[in-house]
Amino acid sequence: MKSYMRMSSVYAPTLKEDPAEAELASHRLLLRAGMIRKTAAGLYSYLPLAWRSLLKIETVIREEMEAIGAQEMLVPMIVPAEIWKDSGRWDVYGPELLRLQDRHERDFVVGPTHEETFVDLVKNELRSYKQLPVTLYQIQDKFRDEMRPRFGLMRGREFIMKDAYSFDATVEGMQKSYDDQKEAYARICERCGLRALPVVADSGQIGGDTSVEYMAIAEAGEAALVYCDCGYAADVEAACVGIAFEEGPGTECERIETPCEGSIAALAAFLGISERACRKSFAIIAEDETPVLCLLPGDHELNDVKAEHAFGHYDVMNEEQMAEYGLVKGYMGPIGADKRVRVVADISLKDSQSWLVGANEAGWHIKGARPGRDFEVDEWLDLASAKEGDACPKCGAPLKSARGIEVSQVFQLGTKYSEAMGATFADENGTEKPFQMGCYGIGVSRTLAAVVEQHHDEQGIIWPVCVAPFEVEVVPLETADDLVWPAAERVAKGLAEAGIEVVVDDRKERAGVKFADADLMGFPYQVVCGKRAVKNGNVEVKDRATGERTEVALDEVVAYLTEKVVSERK
Ligand code: ATP
Ligand code: MG
Repeated sequence: MKSYMRMSSVYAPTLKEDPAEAELASHRLLLRAGMIRKTAAGLYSYLPLAWRSLLKIETVIREEMEAIGAQEMLVPMIVPAEIWKDSGRWDVYGPELLRLQDRHERDFVVGPTHEETFVDLVKNELRSYKQLPVTLYQIQDKFRDEMRPRFGLMRGREFIMKDAYSFDATVEGMQKSYDDQKEAYARICERCGLRALPVVADSGQIGGDTSVEYMAIAEAGEAALVYCDCGYAADVEAACVGIAFEEGPGTECERIETPCEGSIAALAAFLGISERACRKSFAIIAEDETPVLCLLPGDHELNDVKAEHAFGHYDVMNEEQMAEYGLVKGYMGPIGADKRVRVVADISLKDSQSWLVGANEAGWHIKGARPGRDFEVDEWLDLASAKEGDACPKCGAPLKSARGIEVSQVFQLGTKYSEAMGATFADENGTEKPFQMGCYGIGVSRTLAAVVEQHHDEQGIIWPVCVAPFEVEVVPLETADDLVWPAAERVAKGLAEAGIEVVVDDRKERAGVKFADADLMGFPYQVVCGKRAVKNGNVEVKDRATGERTEVALDEVVAYLTEKVVSERK
């Protein structure tokens, strides 16, 4: 029979003060609630409460993997260097890769991910197309010697990952395996209580995507995203959105005095026009040394990723270079610039006929400038970073913006690893062909941190039932009272027997301390047993998420909570 836990025996050393090193809510609250402890930079111990949550996340993953026919197994964390040399990654993987030698001076790596190991595993044993498809996965610690491990579990050096690898005979087969994983990943996020967006990391040539990252929406996220209710979501770095241009004032090309500080905001305010009606200029030196002036709608930034794509490793021009090319900081524009300067403008401006640009003279701009008449644009390119309000490329509606935490990613690998490592199977005609592969990773420990980022308040964590360390906490206010303690025990026992995970705060602490700890640890429901209520045959149920308190009869509270908890388990 299932039993309940006593808080006095739970190893959860709570902290009264906020730990100074923790910037993020998840990091701070997991430390304070006694759920994680740091051993060294980026190395964390998961204490019993966190471990209970992690096991629940893993259960969700296992159920969803089983549902699509993926098989769990486990490979060694340590990988012989030879197979990393075969794949080519031994030479290209940077300092994040932890390399080590054994006593015979043989090279190994601590796996940051395990494509090589799985390819090597199936290489001589999956021989025929008849045995395909196969998807194998594991849940295991990974090690990446991150340059800046930070934010607790969010960016650790050792962390828990679920990694899966699919082997198919054909491209279509691989796409099906990929789609299955992608859909399972969406369900996993949902069941763990995460609001996440599938962000296309990479588009294939034939329309569909070949890689998607699931981004949990949270202020603390490292990625800046734009998304739309129609389902479109993208990293601002990758989004190709529609930007409606705005014309500047006037149509005749005319110099105007603009005695304002050289920023777009100041210029727009001075002229009483929108920032978008101005043109922003960025002067750079492309990788091939060409001086380039990039013109963008005034309220958009030059996108680094797109610019790298267009110009290679470019540098922002320094003042000396600007002077050499006739450009004046704060008042740059295409008119009057040196002939050697290549003028490139954002594609969104192609039909604009009246540009407000810098005059290359401090304190002056030119209005009504028209490309083709007053200056030449050498090339039109997609250069702007997407932002809120830009048009969704799928449906045209204004995009919203958010920040996201990458919790998982799915990839179509094709034959990248199988070809490099000579992993082939025999097709229908007996011809040897490399496997079509996919790989799929979920940051299990990062998912836990993301859940806390999305579910907390000033007082502490607010666990969704599905991943809560315990589902109910019973809080007797006077443990020595001969009515209160038996009542609390009865409730706890009843809940445990009904299959609810329950902990009783049996500590001889003041009510205030118990309430604060209960809110900090954040189990979804609290059953408060106070003397007066119990005397009247009642207890108080507090919903941690809403703060709502309900008086429930002692005789009914087990049924009342069992129904609630079970319906929220997912
Ligand atoms: P990031 O861009 O955040 O460094 P990544 O794209 O390199 O992550 P993947 O190789 O896609 O990571 O790994 C799969 C998953 O493992 C990620 O989606 C993330 O959830 C998790 N993960 C990656 N690096 C870390 C880390 N340092 N700490 C915790 N989880 C991580
Ligand atoms: Mg990734």
